[in-house]
Amino acid sequence: MIGSMTDYERHFAECISGIKAEGRYRTFATLERIVGRFPRALHHAPDGSVKEVTIWCGNDYLGMGQNSKVIEAGIDAMQRTGAGAGGTRNISGTTRAHVELEDSVADLHGKETGLVFSSGYVANEGALSTLGKLLPDCVILSDSMNHASMIAGIRGGACAKMIYRHNDLEHLESLLKSLPVSQPKIIAFESVYSMDGDIAPIKEICDLAEKYGAFTYLDEVHAVGLYGPRGGGVAEERGLMDRIDMIEGTFGKAYGCMGGFITGRRAVIDAIRSVAPGFIFTTSLPPAVLASACAAVEHLKISGIERGALWRNVREFKAKLTVAGIPFLSGESHIVPVVVGEPNCCREVTNILMTEYNLYVQPINYPTVPRGTERLRLTATAAHSQEDIAGMATALEELWSPHHALRAVA
Ligand SMILES: *Cc1c(COP(=O)(O)O)cnc(C)c1O
Repeated sequence: MIGSMTDYERHFAECISGIKAEGRYRTFATLERIVGRFPRALHHAPDGSVKEVTIWCGNDYLGMGQNSKVIEAGIDAMQRTGAGAGGTRNISGTTRAHVELEDSVADLHGKETGLVFSSGYVANEGALSTLGKLLPDCVILSDSMNHASMIAGIRGGACAKMIYRHNDLEHLESLLKSLPVSQPKIIAFESVYSMDGDIAPIKEICDLAEKYGAFTYLDEVHAVGLYGPRGGGVAEERGLMDRIDMIEGTFGKAYGCMGGFITGRRAVIDAIRSVAPGFIFTTSLPPAVLASACAAVEHLKISGIERGALWRNVREFKAKLTVAGIPFLSGESHIVPVVVGEPNCCREVTNILMTEYNLYVQPINYPTVPRGTERLRLTATAAHSQEDIAGMATALEELWSPHHALRAVA
């Protein structure tokens, strides 16, 4: 059928036209990260040209993806044990690397045990859906800004759900109050909300959970490695880990690798291990990835150097943006969202940053954020220099100037 579209193909082409008309068609930047040069990377443009750019939107907040201990642990594991794990966890795919990493995250959060999944997405999906299925007549109370992976898990659990307004304790309490005392309840929330950069009132949510007999499920994906004296997340920093029933995290962000995990009481984790399809029916992660992740987790339990550099840079960056008059969402976290509010203008800002300033920022659009709140989500990492930070602040100051040609786009 070369040259003529089938009906199937035409349908999908029309879907794409619709997405393009809304200004939210996504183009991926092809990058080549260079060990020793982070946050610099090579950008391979569609026309074949290559240039060095500075990454300003990554989640490798501490540069652990290029940490020599992390790289060596991965190389060593691959050379000793090979490329793949060789099976699903149940059928020959449980390696020493899995067991060691699960012990490491259980220790990180002070929990009885841990369980590793292919990614944080799969961990949330598998854990929440299983909790929802196994607890009879359960209702899950979910923050309205929860990540897509938590929403997928809650849907998969096919139990009742109630959505409370983002970080709104009064609303959460009114919903809890409306439920029978004996009904099982799970409060599912995040510590750091990565698109707004704000942090949940964890202590107050734990107080409500205690009062109304709810199970607490906390996603610390954007906090593990970064917050707390051992990188245990915001709950560790605030001395609240023991009040959270299940803590979920990823090795893909501050730990610079890949994979997700949950930690909690043995019986609960064992039930999820025994039931969750996303855990059972897939080949387990390769030992090299797990060994690297374990090296990153263990390193950040004892080293505060990377966290120190990150927070110094975040404070510096926020101060520079304030002086430059750039309006950003001033949450407590390390993430700096700058809302543009219109998809085409947002994309144009990022195009100019890339072409004229060699600064790589991916525009964030619907469905990652609500329509009309399209934004830049800026991340200063431990590896950015003073000059990098000043350079980004200056670039934004120029783009936000009332005289900039960009005004014509908006
Ligand atoms: C990225 C993210 C996840 C998924 O983690 P991955 O390891 O990338 O699959 C889960 N929750 C939140 C809040 C996230 O931002």
